[in-house]
Amino acid sequence: MESKGTLTPHTLIPIASPNLLGNELAYVTQCIETNWISSQGKFVKDFEEKMAQYVGTRYAVATSSGTTALHLALTALGIGKGDEVIVPTLTFIATVNAVAYTGATPVLVDSEKESWQIDPEAIQRAITPRTKAIILVHLYGQPCKMDEIMQMAKAHNLRVIEDVAEAHGARYKGIRVGSIGDVGCFSFYANKIITCGEGGMVVTNHKEVYDRMTILRDHGMSKEKRYWHEQVGFNYRLTNIQAAIGCAQLERIEALLEARAFIQSWYEKYLSDDARFILPKEQTWSTRVCWLYTLLINTEMTAITRDQLIAALQQEHIDSRPMFYPIHTMPPYYQDKPYPVAQLLSRNGLSLPSFAGISQGEVERICRTVKKALG
Ligand SMILES: *Cc1c(COP(=O)(O)O)cnc(C)c1O
Repeated sequence: MESKGTLTPHTLIPIASPNLLGNELAYVTQCIETNWISSQGKFVKDFEEKMAQYVGTRYAVATSSGTTALHLALTALGIGKGDEVIVPTLTFIATVNAVAYTGATPVLVDSEKESWQIDPEAIQRAITPRTKAIILVHLYGQPCKMDEIMQMAKAHNLRVIEDVAEAHGARYKGIRVGSIGDVGCFSFYANKIITCGEGGMVVTNHKEVYDRMTILRDHGMSKEKRYWHEQVGFNYRLTNIQAAIGCAQLERIEALLEARAFIQSWYEKYLSDDARFILPKEQTWSTRVCWLYTLLINTEMTAITRDQLIAALQQEHIDSRPMFYPIHTMPPYYQDKPYPVAQLLSRNGLSLPSFAGISQGEVERICRTVKKALG
């Protein structure tokens, strides 16, 4: 799905597409030529060291996905049955599933209208004597209100897990997200800012948590005695081939982020003077990044619904996505209880094509098509 050259009006513009134009092929070739294709092999260590350095933490543990990164981190932090973990209802399902895997209870909370991020006041109201942790999701590239939340966590002795799957490189008051809580969990799925196809990483400054994660990732095997297992662990390892792609991606992360910042500026250029759209704004405390460019349809200004707009774009060979459905509206976690902000955002939120490689002309055509569809 790589965007190479000019797309004709009849080529589907994908919502996302990996950009593999650096050393990806050379490094993968090295894996094959040296015969190191499992999780043994130099690229895994390399990728971990360079990510830790990039984010600004002491340690990093590569995992098979963002979901397994979250589950590994929660388990290593001692979260389990009988515990409650606070999570935003407006997120991708993986955040909440990872809590469910541990046996703990996810406690869903609402988001803020301005930033779309988890609402610190809603967190405060959700804390009970059983609360053990909070998962913060820096949704669509926008950092959460870290100071307020870290203070609350300290006062109640709660662990803080940052879900950084959509915010590689974003900063809160100058500090890279992922390095502020107890652990930061990244995803490198193919539609993320940097990718290795499937993959993840947990970054942390806690030596004990790091040690526990490296053991749990590898079937709970003792570091001293081979095939001796002291606990139930997992196989959550990343392969050398995936890490090779990850290393090549990380070398180019600044350029990839810059390309996405341009995409964001193009969408803003073509849509910001149109009251039918509510565009995401950078919050004063943060430096956001552009993952999927996501905006809200202003229902006071147009009669067309978000889903009708998605269908109209599809007709014109433009791929788009609804904003995530709030977790509490879906069968595994259903609650007959209002989360008004998350519901409002989700109902009107739309993600548009955003990948390093899309041209300004294509973004302009997408914006023209969106405006036309709204009538
Ligand atoms: C993509 C994503 C994940 C999970 O990542 P996988 O690598 O697909 O398992 C977790 N949380 C959020 C917010 C995501 O967007």
